[in-house]
Amino acid sequence: MSTPSAGYKTLDSEVQFLKGVGPKNAGVLSKLGIKTVGDMLFYLPRRYEDRTNLPPITHLKPGQYATVRGRIAGFDARTVRGGKVIIKVSLTDGMGAISLVWFNQPWVARKLKGYGGDLIAYGLVKEAGWAYEMHSPEYELIDEEDDGEAFAKIVPVYPLSEGVNQWLVRKAAISALDGYVQLVEDPLPESIRKQQRLRPLGWCLRQLHHPENEELRLEARKRLVFEDFFYMQVAMAMRRMETLEEPGISFPVSKIKGSSEGSGSLFGASTAGTLWDEVHEMLPFELTGAQKRVIGEIWRDMEEPHPMNRLVQGDVGSGKTAVAASAILAAVRCGYQAALMAPTEILAEQHYVNLRKLFDPLGIEVTLLVGKLTATQKKKAAQDTKNGIAKIAVGTHALVQEGVEFEKLGLVVVDEQHRFGVLQRAALRGKGYGNPDVLVMTATPIPRTLTMTIYGDLSLSIIDELPPGRKPIKTHWKLSHQRQQVYDSVRQLIDQGRQAYFVCPMVSENEKLVAQAAEDLHYRLTEEVYPDLRVGLLHGQMKSKEKELVMEQFRTHELDILVSTTVIEVGVDVPNASVMVVEDANRFGLSQLHQLRGRVGRGEHQSFCILIADAKTEDARARMDIMVATSDGFKIAEEDLRLRGPGEITGTRQSGNLDFKVADLIQDSKMLEVARQAAIDLLKADPKLTHPDYAEIKQRAQTHRSDLAAIVVS
Ligand code: ADP
Ligand code: MG
Repeated sequence: MSTPSAGYKTLDSEVQFLKGVGPKNAGVLSKLGIKTVGDMLFYLPRRYEDRTNLPPITHLKPGQYATVRGRIAGFDARTVRGGKVIIKVSLTDGMGAISLVWFNQPWVARKLKGYGGDLIAYGLVKEAGWAYEMHSPEYELIDEEDDGEAFAKIVPVYPLSEGVNQWLVRKAAISALDGYVQLVEDPLPESIRKQQRLRPLGWCLRQLHHPENEELRLEARKRLVFEDFFYMQVAMAMRRMETLEEPGISFPVSKIKGSSEGSGSLFGASTAGTLWDEVHEMLPFELTGAQKRVIGEIWRDMEEPHPMNRLVQGDVGSGKTAVAASAILAAVRCGYQAALMAPTEILAEQHYVNLRKLFDPLGIEVTLLVGKLTATQKKKAAQDTKNGIAKIAVGTHALVQEGVEFEKLGLVVVDEQHRFGVLQRAALRGKGYGNPDVLVMTATPIPRTLTMTIYGDLSLSIIDELPPGRKPIKTHWKLSHQRQQVYDSVRQLIDQGRQAYFVCPMVSENEKLVAQAAEDLHYRLTEEVYPDLRVGLLHGQMKSKEKELVMEQFRTHELDILVSTTVIEVGVDVPNASVMVVEDANRFGLSQLHQLRGRVGRGEHQSFCILIADAKTEDARARMDIMVATSDGFKIAEEDLRLRGPGEITGTRQSGNLDFKVADLIQDSKMLEVARQAAIDLLKADPKLTHPDYAEIKQRAQTHRSDLAAIVVS
């Protein structure tokens, strides 16, 4: 049999040459981005309907998604106020009936009016009075299926756009399979397929477009999920390995003798001890086991002659500052400078204050470099950094971007880096900073699957233990009509000498609107609720001078209440503040609520977090219940991932690395581990992927690497 196409059959052949398609249908398919036969083969179904086993309409339950099949027993299209059209079709399978309802989709009426054949509909079953309804269901007229095979099989359902029919895509897919699938080359060599027990790509495409049965379809899916993860993990592993091979600084951490003269030694009179001794003396508390372990991991990295690229994850209050300070101390004692960068100037200043408390007694100079300094102050700070008088420079990421010079920079610590993207080693090098060790700290617990996809090229340390003696924060969920009661309890705490945060509703992504909401709440609290108390306001639209002032007033207890946007989400530390009220808590992501909650519970007082939310949906109630039930950041993050998807947790919308064809980060997390291990094994065997069998893998990994770089840079 010959096709009308001239020349060879290739995957690049135009889709119009497929049997049963033709130029007109090709025009329709191009609406879906399907231009070539290859496009068609890789245009995968969104879901499947098992039509071998459709439920009778009488068995439907409200709240479930279901596929039903029947004939039209009643048709009604009426125009309502405003000229809108409501179409109501009664569908019956002989035993039961269900109403299919469409709002303002007149073309549906044109198709269904007078139609006498079988109809299939898919949608959410809703209760409506005594009857069941589906609103705007997906539907298919079975008459259109010219091959009459729509039943007694698993049917693919493709994502469509207006004016494209399921049957057309199905037909084109089958033709493409029949004529071309043998031309699909498999990017995975047989060796890897064997190892992972994966089927050839062509076989999988066939099963995905035209499943023989559910088992084989899942086998096909499994392979595509593996690929979704595998090339990305190869890219990550390559990057990790390359960093590990680059020349970097080898800090002789275990060889140095710490100077142990400082006063107030925990261990009494000390002689020259190790760096551990000096750390113990520097800190006003005993390190937790987790802190010790992580510091050990960091120091070991620092000793290596290759640059460190390590991510430290630790829940709010887990004591990351002490860990950072220990890394910094090691760098300084080895004769290097360190830079600490925070996402905001407020936080930079807080770090500066905290680090000075630790390093001043050791005679180690810390300097602050932020925008609000006077020209003279800035000049001095820059000079001190340049000629090495200052051993530690604290600032925002402007430190690096504006090219502040160091005498001998050895370590860069980045706090809350997810706020401004993974710091790129190349960027540091480009600015002439050589190849310093980089330590990234984040208080956002990230589910392991996400960590592997977003930060898979970093080494990971987790501080999974809180300092002892913390009183767990009590979290309550209140409805908006209980607000007065909330206000009264806050007043009681303030009467006892405590302070309170009020977080304004997150009305919009727009900072100006959020600031407005904060001002409104501030006005209401000062004028109506607490006219006798001292209420301050903090939002992102204020000048940094004003922000500093307000923060300082809150720190020194010149304010009882701080009304704020999520500006306070990160790092602000006022131990006397023991209650946080979050207005309209439903508007926040769980991880974000967890971050906010971490602003209280930092002192010796019992602390409270009160979430005001009228959670109307089940999802919303589930979210509030989780917040009340657990304070485990990792659990909350897993839940957030499940409920809201990956972009929300990482705080990035640049989820280029999370766009999977088939895979689902939650459902397929096991496969992600498998793919990661396979990538590591592959690179162990052939670090540069020079074997010709791996050419295609290498190619795809490179594409991922440029995606990665794009995410990192933005
Ligand atoms: P994070 O930055 O991880 O949220 P911090 O470093 O700000 O946490 O520490 C939170 C609080 O706990 C600080 O007041 C700090 O002094 C204190 N802290 C940290 N580690 C310990 C420890 N091992 N024992 C007692 N208190 C600690
Ligand atoms: Mg911190």
